[in-house]
Amino acid sequence: MSNNKSVSKLALFGGKPIRRTLFPAYNPIGRVEMNAVQAVMRSGNLSQFLGSWHPDFFGGPRVRHFEKNWAGFFKSRYAVSLNSCTSGLYAAVGACGIGPGDEVIVSPYTMTASAIAPFIYGAVPIFADIDPDIFCLDPADVERKITSRTKAIIVVHLFGHPADMTRIMKIAQKHHLKVIEDCAQAPGTTYKGKFVGTIGHVGVFSLNYHKHIHTGEGGMAVTDDADLAEKLQLIRNHGEAVVEGKKTRDLTNTYGFNFRMGEIEAAIGIEQLKKLNRLLRERILNAHFLAREIGKLPGITSPKISPRVKHVYYLQAFKFNERIVGIPRNLFVNAVKAELPSARLRETVPLLNFGYAKPLYLQPIYQRRLGRCSFNCSHYTGRVSYRKGLCPVAERMHFYELFTHEFMRPGMSHKDLLDVIAAYEKVYEHAGALKRYRQRAIKHGR
Ligand SMILES: *Cc1c(COP(=O)(O)O)cnc(C)c1O
Repeated sequence: MSNNKSVSKLALFGGKPIRRTLFPAYNPIGRVEMNAVQAVMRSGNLSQFLGSWHPDFFGGPRVRHFEKNWAGFFKSRYAVSLNSCTSGLYAAVGACGIGPGDEVIVSPYTMTASAIAPFIYGAVPIFADIDPDIFCLDPADVERKITSRTKAIIVVHLFGHPADMTRIMKIAQKHHLKVIEDCAQAPGTTYKGKFVGTIGHVGVFSLNYHKHIHTGEGGMAVTDDADLAEKLQLIRNHGEAVVEGKKTRDLTNTYGFNFRMGEIEAAIGIEQLKKLNRLLRERILNAHFLAREIGKLPGITSPKISPRVKHVYYLQAFKFNERIVGIPRNLFVNAVKAELPSARLRETVPLLNFGYAKPLYLQPIYQRRLGRCSFNCSHYTGRVSYRKGLCPVAERMHFYELFTHEFMRPGMSHKDLLDVIAAYEKVYEHAGALKRYRQRAIKHGR
């Protein structure tokens, strides 16, 4: 290419960046949410939960309305609102009857909360590796990690692409395991025509502010199983004080928390859910455009999407081949970042990142085996490993091959997207300069 871009210096080396003005902030909240909140404020009823056996054990009118709409949208029999997806995961693991000494298989490549829920019930998270194309649990490695202690699998539909649910469910049936789907990044993702969250035994969603739709903080669990729905409700709301009046027979894990959603969040959620399809459409269109253009650069590929799925792009991942591009991924990503405004989502989350989250077992809590129960528990008869190299695919993706961005979010104009593409292209054209820069740095021991 012989346009101006190719002669101008990289911003990383003091050249003029492709763009300085900030990208529009992502904000799906508008007038309808404001009106809904005002109506709650006028009513004076900000919550109506009661932690005893009473009609208000199920919460206030908006909470119940929101749950009804959620169940209707996702075609699940029950929806149970919560104050976060993290608490939804705790409630799901509790509802599945997990206890001390049990093992729960999880992905290491996910947001930290996905793997913590087993600890709350004294169980041990066992990490299985991920698939190198879709970045969700690799069913073959899940099967290898199953022992007589395994009770459940927590599947994460990472970035909004579904895990291989056919194979996961087959393994679960064969070994009598419960399947909990972490759908925090996948509201509206479908797998062979079904919404994720409704394929396993329990699905949990996040409504925190950096998810597709949000209520500030919040979560939702879905299930078709009446017993699991009851357990989720008991764990959400002081179960121990409710079971007598409710005449609940099975008391496993019914000591409750307070995971209740308020009426304000529910009122916002009702409006947000109505917008979900439109927000997903825009996000997917942007993602496809960016995938096509950025994926043209040799050595940078837009990961393949499995047939018969709908990917909703919480994040958009690309794979980077250092051998083809000639420079390491981190240098490339840093150079792209320098071409764009210090692009952040409400000044907190960078819009472009190396990989995603460090494989969870490398966190200090696993490396130092903190905590008396779970791995150090006398009920635990296994010997879990969290050594480096445990999940080589997740490590390779995270440290060398993957980068993720959020430039496909709704609100980005065509011009905004063209700037993003121009930044990637400019850096790509200057790969030679970056390579020489790196060789000099190595020579001088920097
Ligand atoms: C955001 C997220 C969570 C946690 O959601 P909260 O509602 O913030 O508790 C859990 N799992 C994944 C995969 C997430 O992305």
